Amino acid sequence: MSETLNEKTGCLIIGSGPAGYTAAIYAARANLKPVLYQGIQPGGQLTITTEVENYPGYPDGIQGPEMMAHFEKQATRMGTDIRYGIATKVDFSGHPLKVEIDEEKWIEADAVIISTGASAKWLGIESEQRLNGYGVSACAVCDGFFFKGKPVAIVGAGDTAAEEALYLSKVCSEVHMIVRRDEMRASKVMQERVKATANIHIYWNSEVDEVLGEKKVNGLRIRNNKDGVKQEIGVDAFFVAIGHQPNSDIFKGWLDMDDAGYLVTVPGSSRTNVPGVFAAGDVQDKIYRQAVTAAGSGCMAALDAERYLGEKGFH
Ligand code: NDP
Repeated sequence: MSETLNEKTGCLIIGSGPAGYTAAIYAARANLKPVLYQGIQPGGQLTITTEVENYPGYPDGIQGPEMMAHFEKQATRMGTDIRYGIATKVDFSGHPLKVEIDEEKWIEADAVIISTGASAKWLGIESEQRLNGYGVSACAVCDGFFFKGKPVAIVGAGDTAAEEALYLSKVCSEVHMIVRRDEMRASKVMQERVKATANIHIYWNSEVDEVLGEKKVNGLRIRNNKDGVKQEIGVDAFFVAIGHQPNSDIFKGWLDMDDAGYLVTVPGSSRTNVPGVFAAGDVQDKIYRQAVTAAGSGCMAALDAERYLGEKGFH
């Protein structure tokens, strides 16, 4: 067995979005000497957005990838050991806690902070992928403002879609909402608000065939799945709000999670059901999902980990 197979660390952070890097900054400053594995998408979801205008401290806005480069730089400067690698399995049956990296080595840790995020679900059509970032977005709160006064479309019928449609209705001229069934999944109150908003137009029993546009979105072709009738709608942006998938698969059987796979934390803390394991960011948050809230919960996780390690006499 080589030396790396039995590496031991005090504080291991999994994931490198705003939650993971913020946890790293706080943990490193508390001298916990954190080791952070970046995961499959270093920098997280913000690396696939364009401009971020709602993160405090950047009065002129900043590109998502650049902001995450700043987070990484700051975490490194504080002394975090940042590594490329993916957590592939865990063993939380005892202490130290064990995390397998890249299916080849195990790291032992006294405390683990999970900040593996969530991934937006996509329809999976070619034009959606091609125009991603050029009018196609999975976050109305992030990108709606860029289409101020313009017509836009949104697909989905859950609480997220309803909330985002309402948000867009205040910013954009028209909101075309594509719903695949003859009813919405969103809570009654949200549905009623959507239906009562004059500039939201609902297309029932409808599916998106294609996002139109060469270099940027200029329309949508939809199809009624009852009568097969197709129609084109002119829009400048297309928002996909069909749900998110928390990246929590490897924790199944170890950590409490809700039906959708979001990790459950003790309210007002980042503590999971396993002592020494903390969760921060979108993997445990299906409601707010903002960079700034993820960063805030990363800070909480590092402070909780520090307290835990102190109480157990590890630090
Ligand atoms: P949901 O899973 O609740 O809803 C997803 C929606 O997208 C459904 O209407 C679904 O349609 C539709 N959909 C899925 N796949 C496709 C597809 N391929 N084409 C077209 N439509 C599709 O996800 P949400 O993100 O809306 O919500 C997740 C959870 O978070 C929920 O529990 C929600 O209540 C909660 N939430 C709470 C908020 C709050 O309290 N303020 C705000 C936001 C979310 P169908 O109905 O036909 O399956």
